Amino acid sequence: MRRYPYVIVGAGMAGMSAIRGIREVDPEGEILVVGDEPFLPYARPPLSKGLWRGAKLETLWESDLLSIGHLHYQLGSPVIDVDSDSRVIRTSSGFSAGYEKLLLTVGGRARQLPGSGEDIYYPGRLSEHLRLARRLDQGPSRVIVVGGGFIGSEMAAALSERGHQVVWIIHEHQPFGRIFPETLRKRLLSAYRDHGVEVITGTQVRTIESQSTPTVVTAAGCRIAGDVIVVGVGWVLNSALPQTTGLLMSGIPGISVDVYGQTQQRGIYAAGDIARVEGEFAPMMHEDRALVQGRLVGRNMAGARDAYATRPFFYSDIYSWGYEAVGHLDVRYEMVEDWTSLAEEGVVYFLDQKRLVGILNWNVWGQVPTARALLDAGRTWNAEDLRGQISNAGN
Ligand SMILES: Cc1cc2nc3c(=O)[nH]c(=O)nc-3n(C[C@H](O)[C@H](O)[C@H](O)COP(=O)(O)OP(=O)(O)OC[C@H]3O[C@@H](n4cnc5c(N)ncnc54)[C@H](O)[C@@H]3O)c2cc1C
Repeated sequence: MRRYPYVIVGAGMAGMSAIRGIREVDPEGEILVVGDEPFLPYARPPLSKGLWRGAKLETLWESDLLSIGHLHYQLGSPVIDVDSDSRVIRTSSGFSAGYEKLLLTVGGRARQLPGSGEDIYYPGRLSEHLRLARRLDQGPSRVIVVGGGFIGSEMAAALSERGHQVVWIIHEHQPFGRIFPETLRKRLLSAYRDHGVEVITGTQVRTIESQSTPTVVTAAGCRIAGDVIVVGVGWVLNSALPQTTGLLMSGIPGISVDVYGQTQQRGIYAAGDIARVEGEFAPMMHEDRALVQGRLVGRNMAGARDAYATRPFFYSDIYSWGYEAVGHLDVRYEMVEDWTSLAEEGVVYFLDQKRLVGILNWNVWGQVPTARALLDAGRTWNAEDLRGQISNAGN
């Protein structure tokens, strides 16, 4: 059995960033990446956006990783055991490797609804994307999209743009009802309708049946049939392996780490969706967080001492719009809207007792650092003073 200075479990976005981080500090230490998917680490966000809009599959892989030396992969089966005394990991296929430093970046997976069948799809992994793309390549379909969150809203938009007849079922009474002001909600709803999407609100799907025709059954007992069902009803952390290592704390989802990414067991680190950095109150499941914290933890495994203190930003693309946001977007806060063009380009500020808690840059680009600085300032604001603080003109 071979022993490696660095073993990364999970060939995802935090894992790929950690590889870069290790290499920045240690040019030659052997790195082993063990992943349960049969692919080299790839970017996930395009699975619900760019790939449906013509982006090529190859763009999921960043070329710099291919030229990194002393990097080994063991792909296709999950790590099922970590022996932290002898510092050995073992996969379900019987492969074992020793480590000096171990990084867990096992992320999460799509939450499943009761019911199974060929034509039910859970976007989240490349294999599932390829399966759905093959199915939809057969011709226009009636697609039932379940879920009003990021993945459901993006898939409903992307598939309707591709000419499929989309029925979008959401639990909320209005799409984006919890995070966007009325101005934006109305604009988005009319865009979905313009693309032929039938939006069914206030409806909870209880189960999916697929004996003959794939059909969702709602909590009220209604049955809605389609050719294909795409489900985006949340994301659950992959806690099976962390559970076996004793790294999960009761009542706290994810693995607790300090600002350096170190868990409570010496030599074991965690990064990405699965890691809960001290001071965070909820799981942070965003690309920026996975990339920034993953790289930093990689550097720390190799001997650096960099503390993670970044406010992550998140983003999404729907039809011709895109946004970048920092902090908490919640319509229960006071909202100050500053539109350059109504619901097309502008900024929404979210305030709690006059202090900024979140900023939404809507079709406004490259202004995340300014948004972070405004949030970090911690001062109180009047609506009039906020207007004009962020705009595309600042680029
Ligand atoms: C479809 C989709 C769209 C997204 N869009 C956006 C977006 O627009 N904006 C944004 O900010 N964020 C977005 N995200 C979230 C972002 O991609 C994640 O936050 C990020 O990928 C987390 O990185 P990670 O390395 O923690 O987990 P992942 O990238 O999920 O990688 C974890 C890897 O570990 C593997 N694994 C799990 N258990 C084991 C095991 N026991 N052994 C070996 N391997 C294991 C998993 O299969 C996976 O390959 C999106 C995610 C998805 C799925």
